Amino acid sequence: MNRSKTELFVAGLSQLETNDLTALGFSLGSLPVRYLGLPLMHRKLRICDYRPLLDQLKAKFTSWTARALSFAGRRELLSSVIHGTINFWFSTFLLPKGCIKSIESLCCRFLWNGNISERASAKVSWTTVCHPKEEGGLGLRDLPLWNKTLCLKLVWLLFSENESLWAHWTKVHRLKGESIWSIDVEKQASWIWKSILKLRPLAEDFVKCIIGNGLMANFWYDDWSPLGPLIKLIGLSGPRQLGVRLTASVGSVCTPLGWNIRPARSDIAMQIHIMLCSLPLPALSSCSDRYIWQVDGQTLETYSARHTWDSLRHHQPPQGWEKKVWYRGHIPSHAFLMWVAQLDRLPTRTRIASWGQHLDTYCCFCDNFPETRDHIFLRCEYSEQLWTLILRRLGYQAVMFHTWTALLEWSDIKDTTCPTTLRLLVIQATIYKIWFERNARLHSSPTSTPQGCFKIIDRLVRQAIIARKNRKSFRTLLRHWLKHSI
Ligand SMILES: [Zn+2]
Repeated sequence: MNRSKTELFVAGLSQLETNDLTALGFSLGSLPVRYLGLPLMHRKLRICDYRPLLDQLKAKFTSWTARALSFAGRRELLSSVIHGTINFWFSTFLLPKGCIKSIESLCCRFLWNGNISERASAKVSWTTVCHPKEEGGLGLRDLPLWNKTLCLKLVWLLFSENESLWAHWTKVHRLKGESIWSIDVEKQASWIWKSILKLRPLAEDFVKCIIGNGLMANFWYDDWSPLGPLIKLIGLSGPRQLGVRLTASVGSVCTPLGWNIRPARSDIAMQIHIMLCSLPLPALSSCSDRYIWQVDGQTLETYSARHTWDSLRHHQPPQGWEKKVWYRGHIPSHAFLMWVAQLDRLPTRTRIASWGQHLDTYCCFCDNFPETRDHIFLRCEYSEQLWTLILRRLGYQAVMFHTWTALLEWSDIKDTTCPTTLRLLVIQATIYKIWFERNARLHSSPTSTPQGCFKIIDRLVRQAIIARKNRKSFRTLLRHWLKHSI
């Protein structure tokens, strides 16, 4: 034992006795204990307990590297580093709602503002951001549900064969031979243990028991039979009806000759009798029972966060456009703007006015029409001139789209004129530049004509293709892009 790394916690001792112990070279610790940076708690976590987590996140969001990131880079940081930091806590505690709200608010501010000091001016709701990309979001995680998903592993550990120290201790001191499914949550003293028990309604869909000799499985509560947990089927009168104790194991209810239960006096009891007779007798088996983690009918030998998450989360209908926005080799900042535009969440003047602000709603380019997404990007004379130049360069004679839906449909059709990847790259670069030009006009910054803008896009596209020349889908693109240049 390393005395310098060991702290002593005492209870019920006099000051003299405490002094005697500390004289042996141990320093006296105070609660809450921290282990690997996490507080080991008996009571509900308070703000001071989870402040280290918030501080870690704030430090990540305010580091100079984070401050220099684009929207797209911030999304990546949120998904990798931040989830890495969060996961450590999320898999240990069911964090209080207030804590998770604070984390969400930090993430939201960071994503949209790039800093965490101001309120976020979010263009897309956090709920949408948390949908997978195929379902229209950015693929971040819904934090309350992610917390539950990771904590379900703690329930699994109580069934797993590779018993952890925590699981062993919990079985001996908390379960004391009772099933986790039947233990009364209200009688438990520890807040953390209570919060794990509250996950049982979620966990029971995943934990199944494969019966061997029946000595481990609880007859009433474990999900071992084709009828599911029998207590749910028959109710609390079941033990009396069948003469089987609540704590009985499956194995204790049968002998090599048959099942040892009372004759059936109800339809449900009869159903159980019939089911039992159709099973091989556990008493004749030499294997042990084993537990599995079953997700949507798929048997996993152990808990899997990814599968469990996918089963628990709220699925949205697939949008069908994610490959047009996040195509392979996309320029992150362009794809990000395309995503916001696809959801029609860019702060155009008509959208801002619809929130109740009195301002000029006319287009910054032509001043003739209300500024909507479809107008500025597709129908305004400025963008029409630009698209004509762009399309001619791609080998097309005329502009084929005047609505956003038509643009999106056209973006990935297969033809012999232009490779799809080049079309997607050029469309996103054009949308990006039009929005940039629009903002330049709004903020009285220097602006470009459609011809000037085209030159900038030309340069952007060349640079992007050269930077991706090792990707198979980009290899021939420069030739295609230069083919119709004059
Ligand atoms: Zn216009």
